[in-house]
Formats: sequence, C-alpha cells, structure tokens
Amino acid sequence: MAAAEDVLETEVLVIGCGIAGATAALRLAEAGRAVTVVTRGAQPEEANTNYAQGGIIYRGEGDCPERLAGDVLRAGAGHSLPAAVHILANEGPPLVKDFLAERLGVAFDTGPDGRWSLALEGGHSLPRIVHVADATGRAVMAALAPALRAERRVTLLAGHTAVDLLTPSHHARNRQAVYAPQSCVGAYLLEQATGRVRRCLARHTLLATGLLRCVVGGLACMRLVARRPVARMLLAF
Ligand SMILES: Cc1cc2nc3c(=O)[nH]c(=O)nc-3n(C[C@H](O)[C@H](O)[C@H](O)COP(=O)(O)OP(=O)(O)OC[C@H]3O[C@@H](n4cnc5c(N)ncnc54)[C@H](O)[C@@H]3O)c2cc1C
Repeated sequence: MAAAEDVLETEVLVIGCGIAGATAALRLAEAGRAVTVVTRGAQPEEANTNYAQGGIIYRGEGDCPERLAGDVLRAGAGHSLPAAVHILANEGPPLVKDFLAERLGVAFDTGPDGRWSLALEGGHSLPRIVHVADATGRAVMAALAPALRAERRVTLLAGHTAVDLLTPSHHARNRQAVYAPQSCVGAYLLEQATGRVRRCLARHTLLATGLLRCVVGGLACMRLVARRPVARMLLAF
C-alpha cells in the first residue's frame, strides 16, 4: 500500500504550466477551484511559451471573427477543426485584452497614437498581431508565473513529470473494464529530485503539455474548459 505522503489529492490537476496550463489554472482558481499545477520544468516559467517571439493574434482594423476564422482555416489547408477555429476567432481576441493585458498587465507595444502596434504575419490578411518587442512569450510568462504563485488556491509543483494518467479502466483487475467509458482520476507524478513517484488524485485532470499551434488558441481552449467543469478529463490543445 502507498504511504500517505505518496498520494496527493486535488480538485483540478493541471499538467503543464505554459500559457495554456497557467491560464487555465488561474481562471479555475479565480472561479473557486483548488488547483494543482505540475510542470516538469525546474521553474514555472520554463515552457515553450517563454520562447515565443512574434506575438499573439488580436484584432486588426476593420477585423471580425469571421475574417480571422477564414484566415486560420485557409492557412490550415483543411487540417483545422472548424468548431475549434470559431471558438478561437470569437473568444481569443477578447481574452488577449481582458486577461493578458488587463488582468495580468502584459504591456503590449504601442504606436505613436498610443494604441497597440499591430504586426502583419504570414497567413493573416491584415495586421492583427500584438507583441512585446520580439519577446512576447517571455513577457506573458513573466506575468503569469507570479500571478500563479500569489494565488492561494493554486499549488505549484515544479520539477515533477507526469509519467502516466490514472485511468481506472486500464488498471482494473476486471479485463472487461477497458471497454467501459474512459475516465481519468489524476496522474502519476515523478518527483525529479528524488526519483519518487506519487499518485495525484484529482476530480478533473487537464492536459496542457503543449502541442498548441498558436498562443491564443490556448486561451480560447481554456475558456471552453472553464465552462465545462463537469468534464472528467479535459484536453487543452
Ligand atoms: C522559438 C519559438 C517561437 C514561437 N513564436 C510564437 C509566436 O510568435 N506566436 C505564437 O502564437 N506562438 C509561437 N510559438 C509557439 C508557442 O510558443 C506555443 O504554441 C505555445 O507557447 C504553447 O503553449 P502551451 O501552454 O500549450 O505549451 P508550452 O508552453 O509548451 O508548455 C507546456 C508545459 O507542459 C509541461 N510538460 C510537458 N510535458 C510534461 C509532463 N509529462 N509532465 C509535466 N509537465 C509537462 C512543460 O514543462 C510546460 O510547462 C513559438 C514557439 C517557439 C519554441
């Protein structure tokens, strides 16, 4: 039997602490959830997000969600899931303003008129990319990480690698259980410093370990997740 200290319990387990995981964790905590965030990085800031340079999709002059969705679908050449693209196009730009700029204080570059400076990037039919010089991701993580550390409902576990999900149907003695509906009740976490593996039991598990094609996509997906708190297993990419 596992020692008591080898079992952690949390309401929501978020695996990954880039823009997707950190945003989800903060928004869930602010909605009253107890959240544990796990990252294999030695520090929460250590994620691909930290290295993102060019910027984040916002809203151009005369822009609209339909135009953004059209650009993304065209650039995706048939690989994009239209429903996800429409969520991104409708909910992403407001989140850049409300969450990143106003809630976290990310100071996007402005032009001489004081408005955000919008860049034109490949695949976009008009300038709509906001940026912080050429280190946008670093500015985002520099705002997200302290906000996470300051949130009392968030427990941060850096230097921990999720090595497997706890999916009862795959661990049951009853072999027929693999045909039952899938559920996830947490994950096995490897504490890198000690080599110890702990179980983290969670009512909800959210995977935010990367694979996003663009930063704003993470924000849009997180909003979707936050609206569906009853889901047993949440995917954030
Ligand atoms: C050099 C560079 C430039 C980029 N420029 C841009 C840009 O200009 N605009 C743009 O939109 N996008 C850009 N991107 C892409 C962008 O950075 C990513 O799409 C985005 O940051 C992904 O965010 P995320 O939160 O999904 O994942 P990540 O930031 O990759 O975070 C993943 C998290 O999961 C953790 N993790 C992974 N596996 C495990 C595990 N098994 N156990 C525990 N933790 C785990 C990691 O430690 C990390 O905390 C760039 C990427 C790079 C590398």
